[in-house]
Amino acid sequence: IGRFADAVTRGVEDVANSVTEVFDPTVRLGVTGLSRAGKTVFITSLVANLMDRGRMGGFSGASRIETAFLQPQPDDTVPRFEFEKHLGALTSAQPHWPEGTRAVSELRLSLKVRPSGMLGGLRGPRVVHLDIVDYPGEWLLDLGLMEKTYDAWSARALTRLASWGAEGYAAAMAEVDGAAKLQEPVAQTLAAAYTSALRAARDAGAYDLTPGRFLLPGDLEGSPVLTFAPLPPGEAPRGSLRREMERRFDAYKAKVVQPFFRDHFARLDRQVVLLDVLGAIRRGPRAVEEMRAAIADILSAFKPGALGWLMALLGARRVDRVLFAATKADHLHHTQHARLTDILDAMVSDARRRADFAGAGTRVLALAALRATVEEERVHKGETLPVVRGRLMETGKEAALFPGELPPDASHILTPAAQGAEVWLDGDYDLMEFAPAPLTLRPGEGPPFIRLDRAAEFLLADRV
Ligand code: GDP
Repeated sequence: IGRFADAVTRGVEDVANSVTEVFDPTVRLGVTGLSRAGKTVFITSLVANLMDRGRMGGFSGASRIETAFLQPQPDDTVPRFEFEKHLGALTSAQPHWPEGTRAVSELRLSLKVRPSGMLGGLRGPRVVHLDIVDYPGEWLLDLGLMEKTYDAWSARALTRLASWGAEGYAAAMAEVDGAAKLQEPVAQTLAAAYTSALRAARDAGAYDLTPGRFLLPGDLEGSPVLTFAPLPPGEAPRGSLRREMERRFDAYKAKVVQPFFRDHFARLDRQVVLLDVLGAIRRGPRAVEEMRAAIADILSAFKPGALGWLMALLGARRVDRVLFAATKADHLHHTQHARLTDILDAMVSDARRRADFAGAGTRVLALAALRATVEEERVHKGETLPVVRGRLMETGKEAALFPGELPPDASHILTPAAQGAEVWLDGDYDLMEFAPAPLTLRPGEGPPFIRLDRAAEFLLADRV
């Protein structure tokens, strides 16, 4: 009997151990946005502030967290988000911005949480794992490729590029004969010309540029799967350039896009999409329109059933909350934050309608993951201007700048009729490259971020 009881106890212990390992609740939070939207700074600041919760007044979960600590992540083959290095950059004697996101990475922050409610005192603290997955927004827009053939994709890519003035690529295409036998250097030249055309369009404010890996290749740079380009329809005999381009396009879908969605995207619970709304407004109406269209595309990736082709392979989780956040709100005096939020809200509502979206709950926020400025009022030519002051990146000198005004009504920016009539943010906005502020705030200066705690509240509060 003794031996039997031993075996049972051991069995129970084994089960208990594996239960805590497997069943500690886990929240997988995706963080995305186009290059320079602010992903790296956001994650670094979010993790630092969750570990030191003193300043997270707007995050109700903060008071329940007893400790927060970094742990080895669950996925052994995904690069780790370099939290310590990025925090080191921001908090060094001469603070500088960390290097931005180039590929997917992951970080596990484990939270020891006091249970709430009447029975809270009876149960011990539990552990909730927060797995943060950082990935380029460029890769998310590749979802649209899955249902397209090479010809359909080519037609759209060529029209879009032409509208952004890609003469260089048109010239490169004129040099080649798609029906001629494939020569690798020709394919390489064409792919390189296509990539520079994508870059130029991106810098001018274009959003939906595919394939996403051409802009951010990760570790695939130079591989055949990235050495293709769009061509107009035509003959494609065996062994021809066009036939090979089509084959590589299909390989890109099967070997790059599909695994990314399967291994990373389909496993998320929550998502934050960071958008440099101010940058788009500054670039002009076309960039704003592009951003609005991109939000609709992004939303459609979160539609239930959007990954139908994937669900067949595995039971994907479902993202039930998506936060759209306008970053770098510290470039504006707080008196204009409501206008910024309204503009983003109008873009998202419109995109929801266009994408016929009835999936996850969405919210919008204007935030700064790391405040680089303080606010002031300056009298200029008899007028009081709300300005922001910070240390300029280029000169290292302090400057108080007035970025210009946002329109009082979002429709001024979003209705085509109003576009082009006026220019917004024509003040000092172009000069606004502030160095990160040293984290030496004095009492009364408030937290070193703007509304980061609100973002945490929407994304995490119900799960901790
Ligand atoms: P990523 O490419 O999406 O990872 O973008 P990063 O996080 O690297 O941010 C790109 C740049 O935006 C940074 O180098 C900063 O110059 C700026 N930035 C990001 N977050 C903030 C912020 O909260 N405030 C200010 N003023 N600038 C920010």
